[in-house]
Amino acid sequence: MEPELFSQPVGGGGRLYESNTVEGLAEQFGIDPKDLADAVSKYNDAVDEATETTSSLLPVKTGKAFKLDTPPFVGTPIVNGAAMSFGGILLNKNAQALDLDGVPIPGLYAAGRVTGGLFANGYVGDEAHGAAVGEAGTVGKIAADRIAQL
Ligand SMILES: Cc1cc2nc3c(=O)[nH]c(=O)nc-3n(C[C@H](O)[C@H](O)[C@H](O)COP(=O)(O)OP(=O)(O)OC[C@H]3O[C@@H](n4cnc5c(N)ncnc54)[C@H](O)[C@@H]3O)c2cc1C
Repeated sequence: MEPELFSQPVGGGGRLYESNTVEGLAEQFGIDPKDLADAVSKYNDAVDEATETTSSLLPVKTGKAFKLDTPPFVGTPIVNGAAMSFGGILLNKNAQALDLDGVPIPGLYAAGRVTGGLFANGYVGDEAHGAAVGEAGTVGKIAADRIAQL
């Protein structure tokens, strides 16, 4: 393990667990050691099958995959986060929320994560870094300007 890889999250208040066995790591998390060992074994088998990705797993890992077979094993608790909606509230150019017939809902404006049009056909982040934050700020400003005129 490279300690400097983990110094920032731990310094920021994160927790890091370490064990020389997968089962030992599971015990520190309070999860079933056999379940985690089986999951890691399945993952390692999938890496063997595919040189670059673990395409036989669901969800598919699309980046490079490396086997988890060399101690120490290190883990940290994580939570899910919603980055953006892939089909959320539809807007017109004035940032007004639209109903199912495409008619503006009086007094309702939206911007950012809850809106859907920009990413409805897929994530554009690979080609446009900051697209979600940019959309939130830009459309939020449009909405705020319109609301200020009411
Ligand atoms: C891990 C991760 C990585 C990301 N990476 C990128 C990236 O590289 N580029 C990019 O463009 N986008 C990225 N995004 C997406 C981007 O962060 C969001 O799409 C964007 O921040 C959405 O902006 P928003 O204003 O809709 O919501 P938010 O930024 O979540 O703002 C909502 C705010 O409302 C506050 N709030 C919630 N409830 C209440 C309440 N009841 N009263 C008052 N305030 C409240 C919250 O505290 C929060 O501050 C990422 C998102 C995640 C989770």
